[in-house]
Amino acid sequence: MTLALGCIADDYTGASDLANTLTRAGLRTVQTIGVPADDLKLPEVDAVVVSLKSRSIEAGLAVSRSRAAEKWLRGRGASHVLFKICSTFDSTDAGNIGPVMGALRADCGEGIVLVTPAFPETGRTVYQGNLFVGAVPLNESPLKDHPLNPMHDSNLVRVLARQSRTQVGLVDLATLARGAEAVRARLAELSGKGIGAAIIDAVFDRDLETIGLVAAEHRLSVGASGIGLGLARALVSTGKVKSVAASSEQGAAVGGAVACLAGSCSHATLQQIANAERVMPVLHVDPDRILTGANEAQRALDWAKERLAQGPVLIASSATPADVAALQARHGRDAAGHAIEQTMADIAENLVKSGVRRLIVAGGETSGAVVDRLGIPGFLVGAEIAAGVPVLRAVGAEAGDMLLALKSGNFGGPEFFADAIGLMR
Ligand code: ADP
Repeated sequence: MTLALGCIADDYTGASDLANTLTRAGLRTVQTIGVPADDLKLPEVDAVVVSLKSRSIEAGLAVSRSRAAEKWLRGRGASHVLFKICSTFDSTDAGNIGPVMGALRADCGEGIVLVTPAFPETGRTVYQGNLFVGAVPLNESPLKDHPLNPMHDSNLVRVLARQSRTQVGLVDLATLARGAEAVRARLAELSGKGIGAAIIDAVFDRDLETIGLVAAEHRLSVGASGIGLGLARALVSTGKVKSVAASSEQGAAVGGAVACLAGSCSHATLQQIANAERVMPVLHVDPDRILTGANEAQRALDWAKERLAQGPVLIASSATPADVAALQARHGRDAAGHAIEQTMADIAENLVKSGVRRLIVAGGETSGAVVDRLGIPGFLVGAEIAAGVPVLRAVGAEAGDMLLALKSGNFGGPEFFADAIGLMR
């Protein structure tokens, strides 16, 4: 198998978002958790997104992990690698976008790298090199107060130059509007001056298509899901990839028992749990008992095992804001969150041991704890249950074939659990 596109994402949710975007654009896409083992068996796919957690770690570490990911992707035939960053260009003068870009560029011998976090449909546009978040420049957006990467400069040519060894140029909107040939000429001009990276403007959705077309002719690009979409469309329009509808890529039915776990306490999830009570048995675990050392996981498992053969079950720790605040006051916020997440992971692990092969998890942190515990190396991304929440087919999981849906708290419609079960055959 030869990958048409390799991606390295600097955080997990960004990777999921990109993998979902590529899938919607017709690419068969696997998202891996970390750099996969050399012998990971992949299904037939067009793109792999390697999820790292490298956005805010020390730059040297981000570079070595990203290089390992690149090596793996190139080893699977990826001729183009996209380094996926946040669409608000989250970084500091110490990195990590510039240092990672520089190292990957050196590794693949690329002359000039196109860089843009633009994704107009989500309100991220770039004009004259300045990134806008909705109607305001980056440095006036809430990102100016970000706890890890406060963004005080909206001019990405300057921002990237401060963290790069190479000089950084600009391909402006006027050039882009003249089409792919004008962009190629501008890149050749910059490259001729020894400039190794160029921020490229993008204001309209169609701009991504021109960018994707030109970027795909290079070995490396840097950007968010917007340029990912542009690359995917270019691969399809140039015939390098045959577009496949995500819904037809579900593969063989998995069957097996179905369970839902909810650790999110968001308003949307509380409503979804209330609606699920009408169609499946629901157990509310007692968070106080978890925090005082009682074996709530075992109680939940015993309860579930009696019911799994009859149909889906839901186990929830979720509580109202008042109850959450009271629990946190008694036990501390971090201790409460951590203990409950680990209990949900215990439950998930034992449910899978008891034959559950379709697992739906509500809550971002809760999903992370569950996926870590199950030790799943990657997922093939399938049809969307709700915006941003696809059906995931585990790749290389110890338990064999299984389907998951992982949603952050506020996602999904009021009947989310039933909607998910309906799509997870
Ligand atoms: P979301 O996607 O809605 O943010 P997360 O799973 O990311 O959901 O976060 C929810 C957090 O709340 C987790 O750390 C979880 O363990 C914790 N939690 C779950 N139930 C309760 C509860 N009843 N009281 C306090 N914290 C809870």
